Amino acid sequence: MTHILIIGAGECGARAAFALREKGFGGGITLIGAEPHLPYERPPLSKDSLAEASLPKFIAGAARYGEARIAVLTGAAAKSIERARKTVTLFDGRSLDYDGLLLATGARPRAFPGVPENAGRIRMLRTHADALAIRGALTPGARLAVIGGGFIGLELAATARRLGAEVVLVEGSPRVLSRCVPEEIAAFVAERHRREGVEIICGAQIAAIEEGGDGARLMLSGGARIEAELVVVGIGAVPNTELAQAAGLAIENGIAVDERLCTSDPDIYAAGDCCSFPLRHYGGRRVRLEAWRNAQDQGALAAANLIGAGEVLSSVPWFWSDQYEYTLQIAGLADGAQTTVRRDMEEGAFILFHLDREGRLIAASGIGPGNSVARDIRLAEMLIAAGAKPDPLALASPETRLKKLLAA
Ligand SMILES: Cc1cc2nc3c(=O)[nH]c(=O)nc-3n(C[C@H](O)[C@H](O)[C@H](O)COP(=O)(O)OP(=O)(O)OC[C@H]3O[C@@H](n4cnc5c(N)ncnc54)[C@H](O)[C@@H]3O)c2cc1C
Repeated sequence: MTHILIIGAGECGARAAFALREKGFGGGITLIGAEPHLPYERPPLSKDSLAEASLPKFIAGAARYGEARIAVLTGAAAKSIERARKTVTLFDGRSLDYDGLLLATGARPRAFPGVPENAGRIRMLRTHADALAIRGALTPGARLAVIGGGFIGLELAATARRLGAEVVLVEGSPRVLSRCVPEEIAAFVAERHRREGVEIICGAQIAAIEEGGDGARLMLSGGARIEAELVVVGIGAVPNTELAQAAGLAIENGIAVDERLCTSDPDIYAAGDCCSFPLRHYGGRRVRLEAWRNAQDQGALAAANLIGAGEVLSSVPWFWSDQYEYTLQIAGLADGAQTTVRRDMEEGAFILFHLDREGRLIAASGIGPGNSVARDIRLAEMLIAAGAKPDPLALASPETRLKKLLAA
């Protein structure tokens, strides 16, 4: 294999490029990215760097790409893949040949129906440019309306409060974090936001969003109006699959890959937020994850397999979110849980362990100040990977060390 092309210069694409070199690949590597910057971290965009930094937090500096002989084309978007000729054409007319191709095109924010533009006073948050535009409006006393009580909306609400903005958050479901987070933890998070003065309105349907004058307004279906200087829509993300679809690759809630991350074309792999894959520890059910560590792990795995390693995915899903002084962490997937037990820890931290009907640990969700739940969530992740069936009473008792359960 002489030239590997990676489309998408985000977390996954960058990680894959370096992993190729670390694994001894000596051929050419080209990383193509539509954004004007070198690859950067997205998680800080709704957290610290929204409040503080004006430059993105780069994954690596230009020198490191140079040393690793990785050619990075920024501001360059791939337009089409001609699979028979193994060529990718860019929108600027250039074309590049490949022997192996990795699609790491990520995802983009889901637009609010009827409001496709990410401009003016109605915004979405995915890129550094989005974060800069949002931060510009978050002055002390300014009013921010967030649509969507998912992770990004809630993190943004917490950061906006830190900057002194007033926040109202509107969620269509009866509670925030209704996807993937147990009710007990969602209630804890909502309560923390309310204490901070965030107004959370759940079960509300938005009839329209209007922009005009020096503000924007939300019309709720019950007739209420919410006025704000800025509206941020945070209602999920959609995978960037158009390129793959036009090339005739199989699509199934993302670019469909097998457990080696290979698409329906043996020379093309896909990884990160853009792909759906069979999840080994959950009976091979097909999932798509939007999570930082998954993008890293899959980038490294796709790199290995592009050069013939033939390795399969075995990691357990893991996600974290920071809001105020709290960090929430989730390992595994809790849907399908039959029993949930709670372990209370110091400083008000707690972890919920979720077991299936056979008593197998399938997920653990925890929240607490700083890193208080990190070690136990890590151990829970190892128990999940091992297919362990720990005693629920032992899980619930803070006296029982999870390490001991793992050894057993
Ligand atoms: C605000 C925010 C906060 C987050 N916080 C957390 C968190 O706390 N914890 C967590 O686990 N995860 C978090 N995430 C999710 C995490 O950042 C993503 O899962 C991760 O960035 C996915 O990496 P990726 O490389 O697959 O995709 P992306 O990071 O989306 O990168 C894909 C890149 O491909 C480019 N691209 C797309 N199509 C083309 C094309 N045709 N040609 C060239 N380039 C193209 C895109 O422009 C983009 O730069 C957060 C995400 C956001 C947006």
